[in-house]
Amino acid sequence: MSFSSDVKQELLGTALNPCCEPLFSAALIMFGREYTGQRLSMLTETPAIADAYVSAVQLLSGKTPSVMQSECGNCKVEVDDAGLIDALTAEIRSLSVYQVRDNDDAGLSPCCISSFVRGAFLVCGTVTDPNKEYHLEFSCSAASRTAVLAHFLARLGVHVKTTKRSGVNILYLKSSEEIEDLLTEMGASEQAMMMMGAKVYKDIRNTVNRRVNFENANIARSMNAATKQFAAIETIMKTGGLESLSPELRECARLRYENIEMTAAEIAKALPDGISVSGVNHRMKRIMRIAEDRAARTGGQADAEE
Ligand SMILES: [Zn+2]
Repeated sequence: MSFSSDVKQELLGTALNPCCEPLFSAALIMFGREYTGQRLSMLTETPAIADAYVSAVQLLSGKTPSVMQSECGNCKVEVDDAGLIDALTAEIRSLSVYQVRDNDDAGLSPCCISSFVRGAFLVCGTVTDPNKEYHLEFSCSAASRTAVLAHFLARLGVHVKTTKRSGVNILYLKSSEEIEDLLTEMGASEQAMMMMGAKVYKDIRNTVNRRVNFENANIARSMNAATKQFAAIETIMKTGGLESLSPELRECARLRYENIEMTAAEIAKALPDGISVSGVNHRMKRIMRIAEDRAARTGGQADAEE
């Protein structure tokens, strides 16, 4: 199941306050597939949403439309009785739905405003799996009803962006916090928690990846340095030998030559004179300089002797 259908399942399973039922029902009808003076319809792959739509028509008109099963297993509800549609429209208008504005809740309770948005999401909303991207949207063909929904969302403190796709009005959110808040507000708090969990997991994974990359880069850098030191020591061995070095440099060179994988810190620990890491680096630099001088003096003869 998709994240979107998990959210819808939770919304369907979360009880509504009795006061919220008229507005929830109005939203199901207003944001279903079709809502014109001649025809109402809705199409869904979730039978429970079709049932909720039928109950909505019943609640607001007292009449029961029938549910049809379409070819691909979807449930379709259709009403083409103009008298019934007129009655429903009059009932929806009486609920002050069109009076809600950004700064005016038209006397509706906050719970009823949330339930209206819940109804709209069930029939025209989708939300993307938060493991992929953060995106929640409502799609509605009529501009006037899209504006109503935007006002309801604004009453909940949710300020959506708008766009058009193939002539359909889209209200959408891209911020994970706003999506989590809206899911909670509509009644899908468990899925909102899932989303927060997914985000924490993603943050941890990114931090771990950054650290691993950083450590790999460090290892590559130290290996690179150790390889250069190893080559320098080989040059010294061919041009006078390790005996030609001072005892402190000789011991440092021997440890590096025998242990190319050792870090400077490990070499410092292995040396008897309690030297620091920067002391080891300093000795290595001296060894490299001596090797460079000798290589320059012999003009590559050391290699030729082999
Ligand atoms: Zn209510």
